[in-house]
Amino acid sequence: MAKKQFKAESKRLLDMMINSIYTHKEIFLRELISNASDAIDKLAYKALTDENVGLSRSDFAIWLTADKENRTLTIEDNGIGMTREELETNLGTIARSGSLKFKQELAQTEGDKGDVDVIGQFGVGFYSAFMVADKVTVTTKAYGSDEAFKWESSGADGYTVTEAAKTSVGTKIVLHIKDNAEGEDYDRFLGQYTLQRLVQKYSDYVRFPIKMAMEKSRRVEKPADAGDDWQGGWESYTEIETLNSMVPLWQRQRSEITKEAAAEFYQSKFGDMEEPLSHIVANVEGGVTYKALLFIPAHAPFDLYTREYRGGLQLYSSGVLIMDKCADLLPEWFRFIPGVVDTQDVSLNISREMLQQTRQLEVIRNNLEKKIKAELVKIQKDRPEDYQRFWREFGLLLKYSAMGSYGAHKENLRELLMFPTTRESGLTSLKAYVERMAEGQEFIYYAAADDAKQAGKLPQSERILAKGYEILCVQSSEDELLLQILGQQDGKQFKSVNDDDALPRTEEEKAAAAKQAEAAKALLDFVKEALGDKVFAVRTSEKLVSQPVCMTTEGPVTLEMEKYFRQQQLLSGMDVSQGMKAQRVLELNPESKAFAALKRAFEQDRDKAARYAEVLYCQSLLIAGLSLEDPAAYAELVCSLMD
Ligand code: ADP
Ligand code: MG
Repeated sequence: MAKKQFKAESKRLLDMMINSIYTHKEIFLRELISNASDAIDKLAYKALTDENVGLSRSDFAIWLTADKENRTLTIEDNGIGMTREELETNLGTIARSGSLKFKQELAQTEGDKGDVDVIGQFGVGFYSAFMVADKVTVTTKAYGSDEAFKWESSGADGYTVTEAAKTSVGTKIVLHIKDNAEGEDYDRFLGQYTLQRLVQKYSDYVRFPIKMAMEKSRRVEKPADAGDDWQGGWESYTEIETLNSMVPLWQRQRSEITKEAAAEFYQSKFGDMEEPLSHIVANVEGGVTYKALLFIPAHAPFDLYTREYRGGLQLYSSGVLIMDKCADLLPEWFRFIPGVVDTQDVSLNISREMLQQTRQLEVIRNNLEKKIKAELVKIQKDRPEDYQRFWREFGLLLKYSAMGSYGAHKENLRELLMFPTTRESGLTSLKAYVERMAEGQEFIYYAAADDAKQAGKLPQSERILAKGYEILCVQSSEDELLLQILGQQDGKQFKSVNDDDALPRTEEEKAAAAKQAEAAKALLDFVKEALGDKVFAVRTSEKLVSQPVCMTTEGPVTLEMEKYFRQQQLLSGMDVSQGMKAQRVLELNPESKAFAALKRAFEQDRDKAARYAEVLYCQSLLIAGLSLEDPAAYAELVCSLMD
């Protein structure tokens, strides 16, 4: 009988399947099982209104049979089946499905790599059978028809359709599995454990049972009448097993998804030894209908901050895994959230219609983002310790995301950001800070330091703390940048404790300070000259209470930035003496004893005064958490003054 040719597009898709790479071949089983499940869906739906179907829901099933001797794998269903015309149009051409169009679009954007990713990640349909089989036979009988047909093909050279003898309604697909080739192990697709594993991986939540007769063996008890020479032993038997679990946790009632059930599901599915901090259930009906079960992990994956990290949610369509890591379902900053999304609004053929389906993914992503954020805010409020833990693990990602794209997403993240604070709680959100602000407090104060304790000990912090105000600690130049990008919180501006105007000053106070500076001018000039290029300026300070000195800066480069660049240079082995330096301003407290001593020395012994100036300079560096260029010289200097 004459062979019919495949449509040109189908032929090309076939070539793509036949030549696909090893690791993707296994998805053929998912494709054939989904088709069987779809066909059963159709007949089961009919059965609701048409009693002639004669089957009830529990009668439907998909059977797998592996025959090693004949190298065949059979997938059989009692679904709706196909008529002769349907066989021709469905399996003879794929032009309808638009896969070629998709493939071309993909090829344009990704070059040749495109093929491989489509096969690995998405639905590719019936032809995927040719990745593992050199001959495929489809015998089918449509519901309501009294004829059955057989479709047969050995690949690209065409197919035949003939009449067949099949009495039951449904479809039986027999794959003749290829012989092993160099580097290609096809035998595994005839092994019952491989098949079981593949069903569990891809088709675990298909709503109809996927059954297979598993070969097993058991110990035989010694029979009563056995003689002394009885050898003991094993006997083999077969047992029909349902390979899939069918009803996934996320499809259950919200009340059934208990904390324990969710934790168990999370740990086994995502391979985490630890329980999640929280789980999130979404059950949405409307423009896009979906169910989702997401988790907030207690710790970050070890590679979260590497380029290799790939996040994303598992995307299911009617219980069939479509994509293992669908990044489009999460905003960048929540990419570490594991979970599953199940929606019928995105079909297995997402690849073919991806361009149309991005809208659905976007709707889901936006909803999920809100849900995740709401859950985090709830933890922040009700379980502060858990939130601190979360922040230690994921805070860096959220901070960088708030700063990224020039702060385009800062409002999505603002509420979630935490800063170390001089208050006992350790960490605070900006909103909580503002809520605690004292009567008359105008600004949100911050100080650059390694930690909140150090920030509180800075000489310039003393007067702020004395007012009962709280100070946030910014630990790096990135943190400073983050505050700049955030701009304000609830209308309150950020203010560095280094700022002369950190606390409101009256005109009289300003005039008095100017007078004091004027009176000390000769001394300040002397100190500047003694220190030379080490400082940009020397001033009398208005920010100091009991401490004699502090180091501040003028201009765009702060001490934190200087530290940061220095570290970068050290890491990359560059000469740190050439680095970016902050313009340092040495501030002296004119009310302090040290200042009085400096002044006396200036009047009586200039050499001693120069050494005092050096000591005060070194102190200001140490208090600011900076290192001394020559610690030994400093030690010597202090000793020389003790004489
Ligand atoms: P898709 O499933 O995306 O439509 P496939 O290439 O997987 O594309 O299948 C093509 C068509 O063949 C299906 O839409 C369906 O009409 C038909 N088909 C495939 N397998 C079966 C089956 N087991 N029972 C009935 N019809 C089937
Ligand atoms: Mg299909």
